[in-house]
Amino acid sequence: MRTILLNPGPVNLSRRVRTALTRDDLCHREPEFADLQRALRRKLLAVYDLDEAKWAAVLLTGSGTAAVEAMVSSCVPHDGRLLSIENGVYGERMSRIAAANGIDFDRVTLDWGAALDLDAVEAALNDGNYSHVSVVHHETTTGRLNRIAPLAEVCRKHDVSLLLDAVSSFGAEEIEFDEWPIDACAATANKCLHGVPGTAFAIVRRAGLAAGPARSVYLDLATYLKQQDAGGTPFTQSVQTFYALDEALDEFFEAGGRPARQAAFAERMALIRRTLLELGVKPILPAGESSCVLHGFELPEGHSYAQLHDALKGRGFVIYAGQGDSPSKIFRISAMGEIAHADLERLCSALRDLLA
Ligand SMILES: *Cc1c(COP(=O)(O)O)cnc(C)c1O
Repeated sequence: MRTILLNPGPVNLSRRVRTALTRDDLCHREPEFADLQRALRRKLLAVYDLDEAKWAAVLLTGSGTAAVEAMVSSCVPHDGRLLSIENGVYGERMSRIAAANGIDFDRVTLDWGAALDLDAVEAALNDGNYSHVSVVHHETTTGRLNRIAPLAEVCRKHDVSLLLDAVSSFGAEEIEFDEWPIDACAATANKCLHGVPGTAFAIVRRAGLAAGPARSVYLDLATYLKQQDAGGTPFTQSVQTFYALDEALDEFFEAGGRPARQAAFAERMALIRRTLLELGVKPILPAGESSCVLHGFELPEGHSYAQLHDALKGRGFVIYAGQGDSPSKIFRISAMGEIAHADLERLCSALRDLLA
């Protein structure tokens, strides 16, 4: 029996996506590649119905962090200043990226799992001369879906642009590209979109890339944008994972697009959450503050993470540990990917066997 991945990506692939990996070999300097790349970029914009005149999808070969680093390093100009909001590992990672790239930045540091503190953001924006605010949409560390709409309002008021890490929300959660002052958002193939790890991408406002010398040779979005608009690519792309993402996007649209994906994930997570609650396992956040993608749970008394993980793995399910010092306290379950209802029912009975 196949192992069901309940970690937040990579995800179980559908047969169609897996088969797409074996399409014909292709040189990235041939017109067939340009066609593939053009189609992919168009489909990525279509996930949120974005206008091609205003927005562009930029495709990269790398994991999600490559897209996040490309976004931060390509969007904040040399005379710009970033306010980095941290309420988990991935917010902290954007600060590390800013520091590594020599970007002038400050942090709003919140507890892991805490909601965004708009007063703290407002106080910082009142004080300093910022060009950008970076924030994680779905903070996968805890499963919290950060509320972007009220933050967007504060940013607008201060004429500051948003850089959004949407790596674990793109394709499932709502993103108001035309309402929020987004300059760019970073995402990946192998989470909500059900593709293969290896392709990451940024959705950029065409007018939102910084001018001036690039901070990076490989991760400069302006270089990619220019060459991809002309049908090319500055570097070799992972052709097979492009094929896989192309097929995954076809499946995505056939199944009803983003709202359908969100509803499917929400239904899966509700079943898992209900089952665990019945077993006395407490979620770490209220349902209404969690993403549809992943929820965190307190480890029940008398169980270690390793023991629960190994017992579930023996039954064909891979769950995910907490990060930092939380592995001794929490575990996480995500339900992206090609998972059948029967798989979820088997999971629930495995949880009942192990935790009742
Ligand atoms: C998965 C993830 C990333 C990227 O992680 P990689 O290991 O580089 O793919 C970035 N941000 C968030 C919120 C994520 O969930």
